[in-house]
Amino acid sequence: MKLIDGKELAHSLRGEIAAGVAGLKAEKGVTPGLAVILVGDNPASVSYVTAKKRACAEAGMLSREIRLPAETTEEELVARVKELNADPEIHGILVQLPVPKHIRDKAVIDAIAPEKDVDGFTPINVGKMMIGDECFLPCTPHGIIKLIEFSGMDIRGKHAVVIGRSNIVGKPVAALLARKETNATVTLCHTGTPDVGHFTRDADIVVVAAGRPNTLTGDMLKDGAVVIDVGVNRIPDETNPKGFRLVGDADFESCSKVAGAITPVPGGVGPMTITMLLWNTLESARRVAK
Ligand code: NAP
Repeated sequence: MKLIDGKELAHSLRGEIAAGVAGLKAEKGVTPGLAVILVGDNPASVSYVTAKKRACAEAGMLSREIRLPAETTEEELVARVKELNADPEIHGILVQLPVPKHIRDKAVIDAIAPEKDVDGFTPINVGKMMIGDECFLPCTPHGIIKLIEFSGMDIRGKHAVVIGRSNIVGKPVAALLARKETNATVTLCHTGTPDVGHFTRDADIVVVAAGRPNTLTGDMLKDGAVVIDVGVNRIPDETNPKGFRLVGDADFESCSKVAGAITPVPGGVGPMTITMLLWNTLESARRVAK
C-alpha cells in the first residue's frame, strides 16, 4: 500500500508556483494578490484562513485578510466583495465558508467577479467547467485529480466512484473525472444510494467526501483501489492537548489493508486545496498581465 503524500505533492507544486510568481514580478511587475474575507471567528475557519495567508506569503504573493464581525450584514459583506472586485492589486477573492446563517452563501458568491473567483464557485465558473471552457477549476476537486495522478494511476478508462454530491466537492469531482482528458467512467453515490459498497467494490478509484467517519471501510473496496479521503472530522480525544483529533471519512486501518494507495487525514487533500488556490491566483494575475 502506498501513502499518497499530499504534503509532498503540494510542496513540489508550490515551488513551481513561487517560481511563476517571481517570474511574473520580474517580467511584468505584477504581484499576484489574494484577498480572504472571514466573517466571525469559527475556529476551523480561522485556522484555514491563517494557513492560506501563510501559503501566500511563502509563494511571494500579496495576501490581504479581511476580518469582519459575526453580525456583519449580507449587504455589508457584498459591498466589501464589490470593493475587492474593483481593486487592481487583488487577483483572487475568497470568502471563507460557512458564513453566519443570516447571510446567504449564494448572494456572496454571486457578488464575486468571475475573473477573480479563484475558488471556482461562481455559477459562471461552474458552467464553464461543465462545458470545458477556460475557467478556474474548484480547488479541492482539482487537487483531488492531481493526487490521483500522483498516485501513479492512469485515470483513463477506470471506474471511479465518488461518495457525496455537494457543490464544492462531490459534483465537481465527478464532472472532472468524466471529462474527455481524464476519461473515467463515474458513479456518483449519496444518501439515496441503497448500497454504496455494491459500487465501490467495482471501483478502481474511490473519492469519499461525505463528512462522516467510517463511510468507507476496507470490505467495500476492490484490491489495489486508489482511495482519496476528503473528509475532515473532529473526534473527541482526551489524549490530545487540543481535546480532539482529525479523521477522514474512510476507516484508514481497514481501507489501507486493501487499497493500492490512500491519502492520509490530515496531510492528503487539505494541503492540495490551498495549493490549487495559489495556482488559480497566479493564473488570474497572469491573465491580467497579458
Ligand atoms: P456536505 O456538503 O455535507 O456533503 C456531503 C455529501 O455526502 C452529501 O451529498 C451527502 O448525501 C453525502 N453523504 C453523507 N453521508 C453519506 C453516506 N453514508 N453514504 C453516501 N453518501 C453520504 O460535505 P462537503 O462540503 O462535500 O464535505 C465533505 C467532507 O469533506 C467534509 O468532512 C468536509 O469537511 C471535507 N472537506 C475537506 C476539504 C479539504 O480541503 N480537505 C475541502 C472541502 C471539504 P446527500 O446529498 O444525499 O445528503
